[in-house]
Amino acid sequence: MRKNNKKYKKVTILLLSIVFFVTIMFFVFLIFGEKDIVLTLSGKNMSYINYGENYKEEGYKAIYCNKYIKIFCKDITQKVTITEKNKTNISYSKVYNINFNGMNKTIERKILIVDKESPEIELVNSDLLTCPNKEYVEEGYNATDNVDGNITDKVIATVEKDKVTYTVEDSSGNKKTIVRNVKYGDNESPKISLIGDETINILLNNDYIEPGYNATDNCDKTVVVTTNTNLNTNKVGDYTVNYEATDSSGNKSIAKRNIRVIDSQNIEKNGKVVYITFDDGPGPYTKDILNILDKYNVKVTFFVTNQFSNYVPLIKDEFEKGHTIAVHTATHNFDKVYQSVDNYLEDFNSMNQIIYQYTGNYTKMFRFPGGSSNTASKFNPGIVTRIAKKMTDLGYIYYDWNVDSMDTSTSNSKTIANNVINDIAKHDYSIVLMHDIKKANIASIDEILSEGILKGYTFLPLTEASPTSHHRINN
Ligand code: ZN
Repeated sequence: MRKNNKKYKKVTILLLSIVFFVTIMFFVFLIFGEKDIVLTLSGKNMSYINYGENYKEEGYKAIYCNKYIKIFCKDITQKVTITEKNKTNISYSKVYNINFNGMNKTIERKILIVDKESPEIELVNSDLLTCPNKEYVEEGYNATDNVDGNITDKVIATVEKDKVTYTVEDSSGNKKTIVRNVKYGDNESPKISLIGDETINILLNNDYIEPGYNATDNCDKTVVVTTNTNLNTNKVGDYTVNYEATDSSGNKSIAKRNIRVIDSQNIEKNGKVVYITFDDGPGPYTKDILNILDKYNVKVTFFVTNQFSNYVPLIKDEFEKGHTIAVHTATHNFDKVYQSVDNYLEDFNSMNQIIYQYTGNYTKMFRFPGGSSNTASKFNPGIVTRIAKKMTDLGYIYYDWNVDSMDTSTSNSKTIANNVINDIAKHDYSIVLMHDIKKANIASIDEILSEGILKGYTFLPLTEASPTSHHRINN
C-alpha cells in the first residue's frame, strides 16, 4: 500500500510538472508569440441608403492580440481612420484602416445609393393658345432628375389632338408623366403698320392717294383691313384716315394717318406774305428742295452763285418751275468782290451772263454776299456804300432780309423751321434768309411750308416790285 502510495505521488508530481510546464509555455507563447490586428465591422458589408441621405455608421472594432489565441486583447478601435472612395451617384466605399505597431489592416464597406425620387418635367409656354386653324407645334419642355441632372433628351412626347403626354424615366427607373392640354384660340391682335408718312399734306382740291399699309397676324395669313375717313380735300383742315385690322378670331387693332389739306394761295386768310429766299446755290440739295417746293406749289427766290459748277444747270430748273432767279455773285469771294466797285461789277456781270444762258433773261435783282450790312468788307472802308450807289444808278435792286433762319448756325431742321415760323409771325412781309446748300433745309422747308400754309401765310417769289428789307449799310 505504501509502495502504491509512493508511485501515485510520483505520477502526480510528474503530471503537475507537465501541467506547470505547459502553462508556462502557454503564457510564454501568449506573450511572446506572433501578434495580429483583428478589424471587424458591425452591420453588413453592403448597406443601402436613399439618395441625399448620409450613411449612419453601424460600427466597427479593432483589437490587437495573439495571432492564434484571442484572449487578453487590447482594444485599439480609436486608432481606426475612415475614408471614402469610388464615389459616384449610385455608390461609394467606406474604407476602414488601422496602422498599429508596424501592422496595417484595411476593410471596406460598400454603400449603395438608392434613388426613389421621380424626375420633374416642366413645360414651356403651358398657357399658350394654339391658333384655331393650325396644328400644335411643340413649345418645348425640360426634364431634370435629382440624380441624373438634365434628362430632357429622354422625354417621350406623344401628341394627340387636344393633349400632349410627356413621359420620362431616370436611371433608377423612377418615372414621371405629365400632360399638356392643347388649347385652341387666338387672343393676339393683328399688327398694322402704315406705308408712307403718318402725316400727309395735300393741296386743296387735289386727290388723296392712299399710300397703303401692311397688316399681319399670328394666326391668319391675310387680315381684313377697313378704312374710314372724314377727309374733304375741298376744305382746308386736319383730317384722319382710320385703319382697322381684324383677324378671323375677331381681334382688332387700329392705326391712324393725319391728313392736312392745305392751300398755298390763300392770301385773304391773314394777309401775311412770306418771301423765302435761298442763297449760295445751286448745290447738291437744290434738287430736293425744288421737289418740296413743288409739293406745296410754292415759288421762292434763288440768289444764285457759280460756286458749284456741276449744279449750276439747275438754274434752268429753278426758272422753269416759276421761281425767281437773282444774282448773289459768281464767286462769293468777299476779298475779291469787295476789293473795288469794278471787281464787284465784273463778278456780278459774269453771274448775270450765266443766268441769261439758262433763263434767256438778265436780272436786275441781287443780294450782297453777307447782305448790305456785312462786315466782311471792312478791309475796304466805304466799299458797300459805293457799290450800292453804283448798282442803284445802273438800275439794279438789292434785297436783304428781315427773318434769318439761322441755318448757318445749326443743322437741326426742326430748329431752323421753328426760327422761321416764330419770326414770320412778327412781320406782314417777311423776307426769309435760307441757303439751299444746307442739307437740313430739305426737311425744314417742308415743315415751314406745311405749318405756314396752314396758318394762312402766302408764300411768294420776290419781284422787282416786292419790299426789299434793306439793312443799314455800315461800310
Ligand atoms: Zn451768301
